[in-house]
Amino acid sequence: MAWQGIEGHDAIAAAFVTAEAQGRIAGSYLFIGPPGVGKGAFALALARALVCLDRRPGLVACNACASCLQAAAGSHPDIDVVAKPEDRASIPLEAFVGDAAHRMREGLCWRMLLEPALGGRKVAIVLDADHLGEEAANCLLKTLEEPPPGAVMILVGTGLERQLPTIRSRCRTIRFGPLSTGTVQRLVAVELARRDEEVAAAAIATAAAAAGGSLDRALLLLDAALGGFRGRLLELLSRRPLRGVELARETTAVVESAGKEAPPRRARLAVILDAAIDFYRAAIRHAATGTPPTEPALARAVATWAGDADEAATALEGTLDARDAVDRNAHLPTLVDAWTALLEAPRLAHLP
Ligand SMILES: [Zn+2]
Repeated sequence: MAWQGIEGHDAIAAAFVTAEAQGRIAGSYLFIGPPGVGKGAFALALARALVCLDRRPGLVACNACASCLQAAAGSHPDIDVVAKPEDRASIPLEAFVGDAAHRMREGLCWRMLLEPALGGRKVAIVLDADHLGEEAANCLLKTLEEPPPGAVMILVGTGLERQLPTIRSRCRTIRFGPLSTGTVQRLVAVELARRDEEVAAAAIATAAAAAGGSLDRALLLLDAALGGFRGRLLELLSRRPLRGVELARETTAVVESAGKEAPPRRARLAVILDAAIDFYRAAIRHAATGTPPTEPALARAVATWAGDADEAATALEGTLDARDAVDRNAHLPTLVDAWTALLEAPRLAHLP
């Protein structure tokens, strides 16, 4: 059975169970892995178990004590979660040390220094650690270096190379892999049931297979406009020479069909770029080893493309940069134009 309802990361759960049994839970962790595989959910489940006042064997929260009830309500005084606000490019410094008028009288670093309110541990979770500004990171360093006794800090990010070396060296790194297609499929079904939405099993299976092991991506791919565009995108990317203007126009149309709000537009472009990243990675693998991808649409596109690994590597690098720019809240139409121009003529184009 999945540890505390967390699927796909049994080995990591087992390592934490052993660490806890031996009294070796560290003061600071860095959870690294692709988006949408459950790193944040794992961190929260771990936090709940660590603050539970009547913990069960196997590092399992009792779900009945005062601590568990507050954790379930999202109002536990000893579980602190900080994330990047939707409209900001990074986590603001105030989240860690309070605003100018309340320096070190508010914020996550200050709260970590308080005694645990319920007598257990204090756990801090920093989601979106990829977007930790240098100033905010410096404020965190002291807490990471000397965590208060029993306190646990968990930073959650997507790539080790995106974390400052000073942060990396102070944390124990735990790597999360992509989920299997079967797990994604199961989790999508659970999430849809929770939302009271009905979707055909075949559509769920298609979205799960195209999601690269990410639940978030699978859920977005269930959207008809976005899910339908993936096939067209692969067709456009595999065509040589690539027609940048056409790719830009169609990508922008799908992004804009998300409505006027920026967050869903960004989420759509992120999924489109992730699909392009999958394509170029598969193309590199195919060029190097002759192994075609297992997913049929991707396999077709890679076979049609038939370019060399260098070309794919250049396009991959540009697409990864564009994906980063989405997270940094770049102006989307400009970004789409720059990305497609870069795919068409890598030497001439620059990303914003
Ligand atoms: Zn409990």
